[in-house]
Amino acid sequence: MKLARVLSGLLVGYSLVLASAAQAQKTYLHCGRLLDMRTEQAQTEMTVVTENGRIVAVERGYRAPTNADDKVIDLKNRTVLPGLIDCHVHLEGETSKDNFLQEFTQNPADIAFNSLEHARKTLLAGFTTVRDLGGSGVNVALRNAAARGLVVAPRIFTAGKAISGTGGHMDPTNGYRQSLMGVPGPADGVANGPDQCRQAVREQYKRGADVIKIASTGGVLSVAKDGSGAQMTEEEIKAVVETARDLGLRVACHAHGPEGIKRAIRAGVTSIEHGSLLDDEGIKLMKKYGTWYVPTITAGKSVADSAKIPNYYPALVTPKALAIGPKLQDTFGRAYKAGVKIAFGTDASVFRHGVNALEFQYMVEAGMPPLVALRSATVSAAELLNQTSNLGTLEAGKLADVVAVEGDPLTDIKVMQRVRFVMKQGVVYRQE
Ligand SMILES: [Zn+2]
Repeated sequence: MKLARVLSGLLVGYSLVLASAAQAQKTYLHCGRLLDMRTEQAQTEMTVVTENGRIVAVERGYRAPTNADDKVIDLKNRTVLPGLIDCHVHLEGETSKDNFLQEFTQNPADIAFNSLEHARKTLLAGFTTVRDLGGSGVNVALRNAAARGLVVAPRIFTAGKAISGTGGHMDPTNGYRQSLMGVPGPADGVANGPDQCRQAVREQYKRGADVIKIASTGGVLSVAKDGSGAQMTEEEIKAVVETARDLGLRVACHAHGPEGIKRAIRAGVTSIEHGSLLDDEGIKLMKKYGTWYVPTITAGKSVADSAKIPNYYPALVTPKALAIGPKLQDTFGRAYKAGVKIAFGTDASVFRHGVNALEFQYMVEAGMPPLVALRSATVSAAELLNQTSNLGTLEAGKLADVVAVEGDPLTDIKVMQRVRFVMKQGVVYRQE
C-alpha cells in the first residue's frame, strides 16, 4: 500500500516535470503575410511566438528563437490568420437520406463516434472554435473531451439540446408514431408557457450548456408543415432570455419568419440564426437592439439542392427547403448593407462537415468585402461568443489558435476552402 502510494507520488511528480519542460518551449511562426485582424491590412514578414497554448508576442521580421528547445514553423509562403470560428454547427449529425430513421437506430455511443469524425473535419478545415447549436446532449461530452485534448476537435461552446414548444421546430418527436415517442417535456427541450421555458433553460444549464438555443419559428428540416410561422410567444422568449441571463448564458434564436424574428429581438436574444424572411422592420429592430445575425447561407443553398433529389427529405420537408433555402443569400446581402452586426455561421450538419469555408464565398458574392467576411469569423464571432479576451485576433495574450492558407484571401476568398496549417491552443493539427 505504502509503496504504491510513494510510487504513484513519484510518477505524478515525474509527469509534472515533463509537462512543464514541454510547456516552456516556445514556437516561432514565421509568417510571410499576416492578417492579425487588428488592422485592415496584411503585414509581411512577421513572427508570431506561442508558449503554453497562448500567443506571447507578435513581432516584425523573422525572429530567431533564443532557446535551443524552441521550435520554428516556416509559413513564409502562407497568409496567416486567427483560427476561424463557426457560430452555428451541429457536430452530432450530418445530412443523409437516413436522418429520420437514425432516431431509432443510433445509440448515444454511435452519435459520439460519428461526432468525432465531424469534429475532426471541422478542425482540419481551420475552424478552431465552433458554437454547437443543439443535438441530443452528446455534444456536451464532446466539448469536455475536446477541452481536455483527448480528441481532435475544435474548441466547442455548446447549447446541449435546443428548446421550442410542443410541435415546434425543436420538438424531437415531430412526425413519429406517438406511442414510440411519449410526450416530451422541458427536460427534452419542449416547453410551453414561461414557467416551462424557465425550467427548460435551467435543465440545459444543469447539463453543462454554454449557450441556450431556442426556435421562435418553424424550421425547414423538422417534420412539420410550417417552416416560418411564429411558434413561441414573446412572453415565453422573455422567460428564456431572463433565465439564461441569470445563469450567465446568451440566447441564440433560430427564426425564419418576420414575426418570430421580431418577437425574439424585442425579447432580447443575442443572435438570430438563419433569419431567412427578415424584413425591413426586422432589420431596423436588429440595429436598435444590437442583435447579431448568423446567416447560414450554405445551409440554405444545400437544403434547396438536396430537396431536388427525389425522396431525400420526408414529403413535408421538401417544399419548405425549396421555398426558404434560396432566400438566405439575398437576405444576408440586405442585412449587411443595412449595417446589421454579422457573425459567421453555416449550420454545418445540414451539409457535410469540413466545407464550412464555402460560406465566405457566398458572403463575398452577396456584397461583403473579403476582409469583413474574415472578420465575421474571427473578431465578430469572438464578440458574439463573449470570448474577446481569448479569441478573434492574433496578439499577445490570446489563445494560440492560428491558421494559414496559400495565396491571398483578400483577393481570392476561395483560398479559405484549402487551409494548409491549423494550430489550436499551441498544438499543430495540420501542416502542409
Ligand atoms: Zn442549426
